[in-house]
Amino acid sequence: MSDLLDAGREKHNNSNYILEASGIDFTYSNGYKVFENVNIQLIENTFAAIIGPSGIGKSTLLRILGGFLKPDAGSVYLKGKKIQKPTSDIILIHQSIVTFPWMTAIENVMMPLKVKKVPNEIAEEKAMKYLELVGLQGFENLYPKEMSGGMRQRVAIARALAAEPTVFLMDEPFAHLDELTAEGLRQDIYNILFSPETPLKVVVLVSHNLTEVVELADQIFVLNNIPATVVANVSVTIPRPRNPRTDEFNQMLDNLYIHLTPPRVKTR
Ligand code: ADP
Repeated sequence: MSDLLDAGREKHNNSNYILEASGIDFTYSNGYKVFENVNIQLIENTFAAIIGPSGIGKSTLLRILGGFLKPDAGSVYLKGKKIQKPTSDIILIHQSIVTFPWMTAIENVMMPLKVKKVPNEIAEEKAMKYLELVGLQGFENLYPKEMSGGMRQRVAIARALAAEPTVFLMDEPFAHLDELTAEGLRQDIYNILFSPETPLKVVVLVSHNLTEVVELADQIFVLNNIPATVVANVSVTIPRPRNPRTDEFNQMLDNLYIHLTPPRVKTR
């Protein structure tokens, strides 16, 4: 009986968090210790961001949160349930645009629905809904080569949404776009992702662009030091849409810069 109780405790933690990383340690196979005791807790409807000096471990942390890398200590929980491997409930979007060039926009978006064996008619209807949500209504029959980089990134987002995940992990999703296109997508992305049309509950964005992070996030986790921990957890309460040319916005940027010192190597 006690074994069963212990097993239950191992798999679930009782919390209201959608995504939680608790006590994460991680060392790459070459012996480089990236994290020591990283803790992140995200409630429903949170757009979170992870920032930190280059090479500190932001992408590694996203992969741990998605179940793609297994921590040496600590656990990641999705709605209280321990994540042991990648799940269709958590989707990771990389900076490189990943549309299938031989498929039209709608065929791309229908892909995850076909994998789930959703009947064709329903898959088409859902794909159209997500294409409309990302602003691509009327472009559904174009092939990726006929679209701009921004449109392709929107197709990739619509396709990820069509999988109807609970959590979206985004690694520098605007990095490969020209600045005007990136700004257009940034202005839309919050409303797209947290639209009542999507079942998404939490977004985690990794970015090196502080202005972008303050523009988008509700909560910002700053990683620093070697091995890295969360050195600051900052809530952004500036009303949306946020204007970077305000004192409030600049004050927030200053608050974040304070924590972005060169990483200090921890010694015992
Ligand atoms: P960031 O996203 O903050 O730039 P990364 O998560 O990509 O940082 O990398 C964190 C650290 O781990 C870096 O020092 C990087 O060189 C190292 N690293 C990344 N991938 C590997 C790997 N497969 N093996 C060993 N070290 C790695």
